[in-house]
Amino acid sequence: MRKQILLKTIIAATVIACLALPAYAVMLVSRSQEVAIGKQVEESMIKEYGGLSKDQALNERIARVGKQVSSFSPRNDVTYTFKVVNSDEVNAFAAPGGPIVITKRLAGMLKTDGELAFVLAHETGHIAAQHGRKAINQALIAQNVAALLLRNSGDAARIGANVMYTLYTRGYSRDNEYEADNYGYQLMTKAGYNAEDGIKALAKLGMKRATGVNKYLSTHPDIPDRIDRIAKMGNISEDRKKTLIEQAQAEK
Ligand SMILES: [Zn+2]
Repeated sequence: MRKQILLKTIIAATVIACLALPAYAVMLVSRSQEVAIGKQVEESMIKEYGGLSKDQALNERIARVGKQVSSFSPRNDVTYTFKVVNSDEVNAFAAPGGPIVITKRLAGMLKTDGELAFVLAHETGHIAAQHGRKAINQALIAQNVAALLLRNSGDAARIGANVMYTLYTRGYSRDNEYEADNYGYQLMTKAGYNAEDGIKALAKLGMKRATGVNKYLSTHPDIPDRIDRIAKMGNISEDRKKTLIEQAQAEK
């Protein structure tokens, strides 16, 4: 009896504590749900982007560089995977819980492993910082469908996948993108690559906001701002930055 009262008190205290926290601090999406949603999203994206590439050398290169940078991720309760899709769109994306996919076109544009390292580390950053998981969580709270999570995990997965598709169309918030760039810089440099390659990778994506095949540009903050941030982090001078941008554009 006393035990029951104690239990009730603990539950009541926990509920009050939860209510007192801001909405984003209540995580309804478990890690296993995050991973399950991510797998579903990855499968759909692979289909939509022309299927997996059969280019063995390219697949190995992406997996090797991806493993190098993600091994420095502070988040290690998920498995990061890196795959190439047969698409002529310039794009890369991260699904919640580990899967990262890059298009053949973008991978081909990133000629050095250092340039590739920055892009893959940026995507790793979205997963490490749990941007997808948090976005799904916020949607669940906003839609007040937390009960669905307990009742039917299939519904939760469907809602989660819908949130992710919306994110791929509209993009993450500016703050999320800048945070992913911080990871991009940190993970690539920890893996031994030069931050200058991060600037070149960004410059290759284009210096202007664009639409059409360059989906990456339409869903990310302006490239010049992002380049300036990386230059600052890497102590790269204004002159050197300009040279790197010119080099990158000549190589495209
Ligand atoms: Zn991003």
